[in-house]
Amino acid sequence: MNSKRNALPKLENFRRIVVKVGSSLLVEKTGGLKEAWLKALVDDVATLHKAGADILVVSSGAIAMGRGVLKLGRRPLELEEAQAAASVGQIALARVWAEALAGHGIIAAQVLLTYGDTEERRRYLNARATLGTLLAHRAIPVINENDTVATQEIRYGDNDRLAARVGTMASADCVVLLSDIDGLFTAPPQKDPGAAFVPVVPRITAEIEAMAGGAASELSRGGMMTKIEAAKIATSGGATMLIANGTVEHPLRSVREGRRCSWFLSPSTPVTARKRWIGGTLEPRGTLSVDEGAASAMRAGKSLLPAGVRRVEGSFNRGDCVVVRSLEGGEIARGLVAYDAIDAVQIAGRSTRDIEAILGYSGRKEIIHRDDLVMSGDGAIG
Ligand code: GLU
Repeated sequence: MNSKRNALPKLENFRRIVVKVGSSLLVEKTGGLKEAWLKALVDDVATLHKAGADILVVSSGAIAMGRGVLKLGRRPLELEEAQAAASVGQIALARVWAEALAGHGIIAAQVLLTYGDTEERRRYLNARATLGTLLAHRAIPVINENDTVATQEIRYGDNDRLAARVGTMASADCVVLLSDIDGLFTAPPQKDPGAAFVPVVPRITAEIEAMAGGAASELSRGGMMTKIEAAKIATSGGATMLIANGTVEHPLRSVREGRRCSWFLSPSTPVTARKRWIGGTLEPRGTLSVDEGAASAMRAGKSLLPAGVRRVEGSFNRGDCVVVRSLEGGEIARGLVAYDAIDAVQIAGRSTRDIEAILGYSGRKEIIHRDDLVMSGDGAIG
């Protein structure tokens, strides 16, 4: 492949990066922590963070660390045992990250997510808002699957996919999967010595999927196939994905210094991908009719406040997509609504500061936040 180095993306040019770390990179087979490796990775992370990027870490290792503490040996674990090991190991895992980041004066925040948290929009909105707030405070969320409550059916099963989902949820523009190989090859390199390295994947085609070994592969769990699935999620959410070798010390610095790795490019950006999702993919569940003042504020890029809403129709839940119309009925926008219909009816036309007195809880001050709003006429609705 005739890859021009300068045509490839550069890690330091991204503004919000998810870094996924697998158990085997972080934890020794004996259950001990690979301290020197972690310290070197955190140096790399801190360099990007100090240069201004927001960083989110998705870290596995809870089960691997807890397994040692509970003396479960190396045998395959029952689901309950794995969940118990995760709950023991997660405490240690969070602590090592917090300490390592604190060494650079960076605040760590533990976030445990299940599949449902990224699938169901009510919870998705909260998780997204929390991550956004943490990043605004320059903290680094250290994220893992909430293994103790996840059931087998609703588990991610692997943190590659979790990292990609987190990337989309947080509107990250880059998702880095640190792996035990350099990246994608045209065939599994262990089996095929003639396999060529693939430095850049402009689009995930059937041919690319075939390179990963096919869906039926025994080795597919956590292997290249799940990485390609993660790449599909990440790139359709507008992020560039990177697979890089994490077994070296300073894996991110190595990429910056030119070590080979595989880039998966995205056809869009996080903002346009999210707009398309809200405007084009979601079925609207209701309508908010708004006055002219609210309509022009929205056109100027502002959020929709309850005060500007005159009429609420439909039975929607918080997080659903609703259509915003003028009082004459023309569609102005679509967006994810921050209140259930039953509450939206009560706060419509009222001042934000009265919300708590009316509903008995302090909800969000916007009924649709500007980040969750897509205006008609910008091409994303349809
Ligand atoms: N959540 C699991 C753990 O922390 C790891 C899952 C995975 O690596 O895919 O042990």
